[in-house]
Amino acid sequence: MSDDTIFHKIIRREIPADIVYEDDDLIAFRDIAPQAPVHVLFVPKRTIPTLNELPADAPEIIGRLAVAAARYAQQQGFAEDGYRIVMNCNGHGGQTVFQIHLHLLAGAQLGRFGTPAA
Ligand code: AMP
Repeated sequence: MSDDTIFHKIIRREIPADIVYEDDDLIAFRDIAPQAPVHVLFVPKRTIPTLNELPADAPEIIGRLAVAAARYAQQQGFAEDGYRIVMNCNGHGGQTVFQIHLHLLAGAQLGRFGTPAA
């Protein structure tokens, strides 16, 4: 499993990022190409390339990401307006960085999703 993705480099502070939250297990930073007024990525520090490698003995990793995102939404004041969390897996899901991450999108009415790409 590669621990040399761009997100690992952010975790190791080898490249800069706009970090908004960090604890022992995860880090959150603003997406470099935001798809909404608020677009933050929540990334576990444990190496997990895709959801297909999510450890069966540690499904709580996903819960940790979701809880951190929901708390961030509450702290930032947009929880009541609403938001979306998304995780992409492999090619058809549109995953481009192979360290699992949860997208938090907010700040405007979001469009529908899930249709095949044009
Ligand atoms: P995904 O397509 O689900 O794998 O999402 C990867 C996300 O990482 C995309 O939304 C990219 O814009 C974002 N991204 C790539 N490189 C960086 C970076 N250096 N800092 C912040 N976000 C990044």
